[in-house]
Amino acid sequence: MKRAALLDRLRATPRWDVLVIGGGATGLGCALDAAARGHRTLLLEAHDFAKGTSSRSTKLIHGGVRYLAQGRIGLVREALAERSLLLANAPHLVHPQRFVVPVYRQWDHLVLGTGLTAYDWLAGRHSLGASRLLSAAETVAALPTVRRDSAAGGLIGGISYMDARFDDARLAISLMLSVLDHGGLALNYLPVHALRHAAGRVVGATARDAETGEVFAIDARVVINAAGVWADEVRRLDEPSAAPQLAPSQGAHVVIDKDFLPGESALLIPKTPDGRVLFVIPWQGKVLLGTTDTPRGETPLEPRPLTDEIDFILSTAARYLTRPPTRADVRSAFAGLRPLIGAGRGSPTSALSREHVIQLSNGGLVSVAGGKWTTYRHMAEQIVDRAEAVAGLPHHPCPTAALPLHGSPRAPLDDVLGTDRPCVEALPGAGLRLHPALALSEAEVRHAVRAELARDVEDVLARRSRALFVDATAAGEAATAVAGILADELGWTEEHQRERTEAFRRLAEGFR
Ligand SMILES: Cc1cc2nc3c(=O)[nH]c(=O)nc-3n(C[C@H](O)[C@H](O)[C@H](O)COP(=O)(O)OP(=O)(O)OC[C@H]3O[C@@H](n4cnc5c(N)ncnc54)[C@H](O)[C@@H]3O)c2cc1C
Repeated sequence: MKRAALLDRLRATPRWDVLVIGGGATGLGCALDAAARGHRTLLLEAHDFAKGTSSRSTKLIHGGVRYLAQGRIGLVREALAERSLLLANAPHLVHPQRFVVPVYRQWDHLVLGTGLTAYDWLAGRHSLGASRLLSAAETVAALPTVRRDSAAGGLIGGISYMDARFDDARLAISLMLSVLDHGGLALNYLPVHALRHAAGRVVGATARDAETGEVFAIDARVVINAAGVWADEVRRLDEPSAAPQLAPSQGAHVVIDKDFLPGESALLIPKTPDGRVLFVIPWQGKVLLGTTDTPRGETPLEPRPLTDEIDFILSTAARYLTRPPTRADVRSAFAGLRPLIGAGRGSPTSALSREHVIQLSNGGLVSVAGGKWTTYRHMAEQIVDRAEAVAGLPHHPCPTAALPLHGSPRAPLDDVLGTDRPCVEALPGAGLRLHPALALSEAEVRHAVRAELARDVEDVLARRSRALFVDATAAGEAATAVAGILADELGWTEEHQRERTEAFRRLAEGFR
């Protein structure tokens, strides 16, 4: 799959039915939905797919026990049904995960046990297994490094419940490939910088190829704004005086070695000092800890965790783990921005709704804001229904509830490449690992370029593989080898190769 051929298709198509701006969970979900319904669909992403929030989540496909505690029953029920669909449609990327909540006070056993029974009940036929009260010995067997003592007293037991975990950036790549499989077109590094209007209606957009500077004037019957925390900026391309709607909130994570929490179970800390929950999850052979909820006025492309956020995560985890993790133990630290709705309302961001809102401008721009990774498919169904009506397109029923995503095997498989694995193993450099601490081969990098639209060192080390998020030092060390393969595949000059290696090293420094 060559970018040049995809650009030729873009030039050759006089008018699209649906143009989607933004290649995160929301935009990719919309593009797949529209393409699978048979509409001529184009998606444009300014940077790389999932460069924004969609690669920086807590990696949970979940109903959300916290939303249950907030009484958001509809959201929880919808998310649990979507969890079930994702487990069926992407079994190589989404996996059931057991969580254990350690309990130090009898009262918590009762309260949490009741809450998680309600969670089971809401899951209904989508349940992944009933929640269960555990004895102290069973809790320690599941979480070998959990503290037996705490400020609240000794460990008296625990509660286990089932949810699901996933690889967010890989799910985005699988969605992008599914868009192409279903006849749509998706391109990265093509930022939209203006909307085209005729008789007061939005009739397309103008985008500039970030690699060559070529400008594309695109006609479309309807334009969907799925630009995440940048959606207000795209809305202003349509209505310059549009009031901001989004109240971005930052969430940070840290990744530490597996021996801090050996075993397969994840730990849920039910109440942090700021009244939230904190997850400690086995992920990619390491342990992921997060997250926080910090209001942010600005929306940088590369948000950095604040010192306070990292200290908060580490000190909260230390109250539950026998060996407290310190800053020296952090292998990678990253942050993402939640596109929450509620600018100017003055509420704390943790209290703002995670539900999405679809908005139609006077000129017919369909904007979506808010939502969760877990519910991207259902959101996309509603957005494309709306877009069909706006554009006067024939209404086709949404097929995605039973649509296996690209790479999906018939049975659960712990390999993010899924059914693409044999193609990868046939490429030069199969099994040739690029760094002793990373499970990344030369052939996987070649595949990322040839078949997954990777254009830069970061695309490979942050999102096709998750090296940057798992071990930033090792990722920085692998940059030279990865850049060498990209240079070979894409015909880079030596100077460009050096420049891209250095750029990635600087990025990796920030994740350390
Ligand atoms: C810390 C944190 C933890 C989370 N954990 C979970 C979780 O465990 N489970 C869960 O279900 N959800 C979780 N979420 C929520 C979930 O990650 C988000 O709802 C989802 O990723 C948002 O996707 P999006 O497509 O709307 O935004 P994004 O992923 O940010 O995508 C928007 C895209 O639009 C592009 N763009 C912007 N402007 C333009 C333009 N002019 N032209 C072209 N492209 C443009 C951007 O480059 C970006 O790639 C979490 C969120 C955060 C922040």
